[in-house]
Amino acid sequence: MPVSIGVLREAVEDETRVALTPPVVAVLVRDGLDVIVEKGAGERAGFPDSDYSAAGATLAARKATLAARVVVSVGRPDAAATKALKPGQALLGLLDAWREPQELTALEGVHVLSLDRLPRQISRAQTMDALSSQASIAGYRAAIVAAEAYGRYFPMMVTAAGTAKPATVLVLGAGVAGLQAIATARRLGARVTGYDVRPAAREEVTSLGAAFLATSVDAVGEGGYARELTAEESATQRAELSAAISGFDVVITTAKVPGRRPPELVDAETVAAMRQGSVVVDLAAGPLGGNVAGTRPDARIETANGVTLIGAGEIAREMAPAASDAFARNIAAVIAAIVIDGELTIDPNDEVISKMLVTP
Ligand code: NAD
Repeated sequence: MPVSIGVLREAVEDETRVALTPPVVAVLVRDGLDVIVEKGAGERAGFPDSDYSAAGATLAARKATLAARVVVSVGRPDAAATKALKPGQALLGLLDAWREPQELTALEGVHVLSLDRLPRQISRAQTMDALSSQASIAGYRAAIVAAEAYGRYFPMMVTAAGTAKPATVLVLGAGVAGLQAIATARRLGARVTGYDVRPAAREEVTSLGAAFLATSVDAVGEGGYARELTAEESATQRAELSAAISGFDVVITTAKVPGRRPPELVDAETVAAMRQGSVVVDLAAGPLGGNVAGTRPDARIETANGVTLIGAGEIAREMAPAASDAFARNIAAVIAAIVIDGELTIDPNDEVISKMLVTP
């Protein structure tokens, strides 16, 4: 019997993405897999059930989808769904493995694979890297949202009615999302500056034609990633950033730390010192906090001094079709690594797969 893949309708009402899209389903079906799609799963991402049927999937109710050998979803399914899984099945998605881990570790015999545990530096894992694919979309969107909220031009405009100065944009955190935000703001014509605690980011920022803001804090940790700053380093960083921030029209922050409270890079006094009409987009704003004092998840707030604060931790959801296309290709790459010769094969010696395993 072919291995079956079940595509769940997302549990969270605000989640617009879907784990597999019809074009990717067509490839999986062509490769001999059975794809079962929960009715309405792709609706919010713009993929109607009829497109999945045309791609060769079977549409089903939730119960039948949950009985597939490999169940895929973008975020973690609700507790009732995870409890319905039986030994021998696999669950695959961006499962927030750090959040209430016992809900996942309790699933004895189920192969729980969370994409937020993927060893991203291994080159074979790059096609599976959903954190990067979604961060890239978030960075692009952050620049677009900032430009839309900003009441003036991003590019310099020379018109008969005079010349408008280009907007000045500062991007804090120059990882995947930050570099994409920098590139997008540059394409929109803004004058862009990037910043990161990793000194290696300087070259990446400047190669995009942006300036680099230097502080006295360097913090490279394991695998070249940023490490958590000490309280003293954080205070130094905030003070040095504060002095620079009030000169910018737009600030985009991207320092998101899975499972931990994001570092506060912009405090309330700094926001209060910003010019009326400035815009701040906080890509780290989530339930644990954000990079900017005062931002709220998924909310747009105008401060007393006329600064627009946009909490955008889940901003990739605003581009559900593109985000789902990329996510689906990541999922298909994992499926290709775990379905070998038509059998579900979770190889504990496969470094990429074993690191993603949440269950023992
Ligand atoms: P992330 O989402 O964890 O963080 C975003 C950025 O914020 C990072 O650049 C980080 O250095 C920065 N940051 C963290 N704490 C900070 C602080 N206190 N102040 C200022 N900046 C802070 O990171 P990410 O985008 O997922 O990736 C981070 C790095 O890993 C990047 O260099 C990226 O290119 C690299 N990466 C490599 C691979 C690969 O090798 N295939 C894949 C993904 C990412």
